[in-house]
Amino acid sequence: MPKLTDPLRPVVGDKAARRLATLGSGLRTVGDLLSYYPRRYETRGELTDLAGLRDGEHVTVQAMIASVSSRPMRNRRGSIFEAVVTDGHGQLTLTFFGKGRQDWRERQLAPGLRGLFSGQVSTFRGKRQLSHPEYELIGSGAADSARAVEFATELIPIYPASKDIASWQIADSVRLALAAAELDGDPLPAQIRDRYGLYGYARALNAIHRPADERDKSRAVRRLKWDEAFMLQVVLAQRRRISTEYIALPRPVADGGLLAEFDGDLPFELTAGQRQAGATISADLAQEHPMHRLLQGEVGSGKTVVALRAMLQVVDAAGQSALLAPTEVLAQQHHRSISQMLGPMAMAGQLGGAEQATRVALLTGSQGSAARRRALLEAASGEAGIVIGTHALLEEHVQFADLGLIVIDEQHRFGVEQREALRGKAAEGRPHVLVMTATPIPRTVAMTVFGDLEVTELTELPAGRAPIATHVVPAAAKPHYLDRTWERVKEEVAAGRQAYVVCPRIGGEPDGQAPAAPGAAAGAAAAERGGRQGRAVGASDADDGGFGVADDGGLDFGDDLDETEQERRPALAVIDIAAGLKQGPLAGLRLAVLHGRLAPDEKDKVMLAFADGQVDVLVTTTVVEVGVDVPNATTMVIMDADRFGVSQLHQLRGRVGRGGHPGLCLLVTEAAPDGPARARLDAVAATQDGFALSRLDLEQRREGDVLGAAQAGRRSSLKLLTLLKDEELIGQARQEAEELVGADPALAGQPALAAAIAALLDAERAEFLEKA
Ligand code: ADP
Ligand code: MG
Repeated sequence: MPKLTDPLRPVVGDKAARRLATLGSGLRTVGDLLSYYPRRYETRGELTDLAGLRDGEHVTVQAMIASVSSRPMRNRRGSIFEAVVTDGHGQLTLTFFGKGRQDWRERQLAPGLRGLFSGQVSTFRGKRQLSHPEYELIGSGAADSARAVEFATELIPIYPASKDIASWQIADSVRLALAAAELDGDPLPAQIRDRYGLYGYARALNAIHRPADERDKSRAVRRLKWDEAFMLQVVLAQRRRISTEYIALPRPVADGGLLAEFDGDLPFELTAGQRQAGATISADLAQEHPMHRLLQGEVGSGKTVVALRAMLQVVDAAGQSALLAPTEVLAQQHHRSISQMLGPMAMAGQLGGAEQATRVALLTGSQGSAARRRALLEAASGEAGIVIGTHALLEEHVQFADLGLIVIDEQHRFGVEQREALRGKAAEGRPHVLVMTATPIPRTVAMTVFGDLEVTELTELPAGRAPIATHVVPAAAKPHYLDRTWERVKEEVAAGRQAYVVCPRIGGEPDGQAPAAPGAAAGAAAAERGGRQGRAVGASDADDGGFGVADDGGLDFGDDLDETEQERRPALAVIDIAAGLKQGPLAGLRLAVLHGRLAPDEKDKVMLAFADGQVDVLVTTTVVEVGVDVPNATTMVIMDADRFGVSQLHQLRGRVGRGGHPGLCLLVTEAAPDGPARARLDAVAATQDGFALSRLDLEQRREGDVLGAAQAGRRSSLKLLTLLKDEELIGQARQEAEELVGADPALAGQPALAAAIAALLDAERAEFLEKA
């Protein structure tokens, strides 16, 4: 009997095996095929709604033949045979071209018969059609007995098919595989199946492919979702367990150290959430195993202070802390603000330095060589208790005297490998790790994407935070709203405040390089981080910290959601908008531009001038997206707002309303008032709850993108599970996994589970290598 890992060919035959290998990422083994699940099910006799078909889609529809006609071709020999099929309302034309007459087809496709028709939808002379569809008539008597049984059941599985292989041909192969395969082992432990009333493995596989009825199908889906959730959580539980076996130097709180002094000088009260998170982290740091904690916070919830307090605790315990920022602008800002907050405490060995003090070093890829050498020296000698930097911190020659804590700001730009690279820099044992997210994400997503981390959440904002009013400005429909936008900016500036104007693109490219296609914002983002227009995502020698991870490689993007617009004008650009504003509506104000093509010291100068109040209006790209903190800035105008993702807009908006003055965010768009893009903007305007918005963002996206972006390979393992809808199941699976791994870390008592996980990890590794 063939096992799940055996090749398909002997089971389904040569020809089918060849065709199946073209589906998805290639179905090659019996297991591949059996976990290629139907996309949906047709209810027998219930016709498909033809109105929902979209051009270009590959579809399988159940319909009734309404009429047929045949005519010779005009300019060539041969004939065109057309059958019009209907769902009772709409119609779809099936077109077949033949070299000669097609009488046999005419006899086959008789009006009144029902069938499944499969092909690519196109429009010809205003009529929807399938050109040369594959078809399978239902109850025509032509079907062999196995298929007759198939069609006697209530639900007909419809598989994601292609031009090479139709849905029912896949179903034929699945039937053969189900009959032949050995399905004795069950990866899900019996006690879990009992506790949650789940189908056994063989039954579930049979039922998902050939359900007796709706209930049978649902139970199969539930059971197979459990497999996905549970195996993932077992892997993560094993990883967490391994990491607790590592040794770290404990860094307990010291009496009368820098932390105590810092707390004494704090100009504000910590929020309850900050105190709680602080206590948890402080206790973690005192353990002799490394902390692995994710600090999730609403935008503006004050994560930096929490991180800084942890860093000071480690410095007090004779260690060093590294703070890794995703962009150069952010690294510089952290360096500035942390040095400022610490004041004399950060000036060890300097005139005016406190008696008890350390140093804060900055290390970026593009600083001058003298500054760089000094920073490297301070890190290696241990003089700098806190070292802040971009990815330059990861480089091999960066050394620390005693690295005790790594703080990673705005995590989604960093991969697991980058975390590992830093970990290797601890002299003794492993450093503690604190990861902070830029955008809050739902807990189950966090538990899965960052599943090897413990999660702490900061949901409240510091008291006295003024609200941010957000409005959509429909620039095309109501041009005077845009005039009013610039007037508001002028009013704010007159009142002594400052404003950001964010555009999706830098602009100023040589002719012919301007992005004209949809996705211009993603292009701009890639340009922003890749340093050059159209640079591939993943380039590593870029500006801005050089992560080469475009915005759409992270948890934010919105562009390819808009399938409605085919041709769009290029996105608005910083350079053009700045010039236009300077000569037009904002003449007389002090404007500056900021974007990723500026030299790093230039960027720093601009940011400094803005932070210092010497610039009224900063026209910028999304370099200010994460973390930038200028409390006097109250207004944020986002041009072409529809080209940004929901979470990204929320993040951008979080730059204003920080200083006790009410914030104003204006989302300028030309998107159609009733389209999906506008609906997203309205959603952003309607709530300030980042968790709710990130949920919305995730719902609109294919799950794989979320997982794939964060950790390579994981997309392959989740087929049925959706992180947002299956929260309860994931929570249960996590708990069960934790218990099982606690009792039996090597899974010695669960051979089928161990084998399934090994196969899963192998597949992921293969996929990862293929991509790399
Ligand atoms: P984020 O969580 O988005 O990274 P930041 O750490 O940048 O937020 O904090 C935003 C601002 O709030 C900073 O100016 C910081 O000094 C200020 N802040 C932080 N905690 C408090 C607090 N408890 N009370 C008042 N202001 C605070
Ligand atoms: Mg921050």
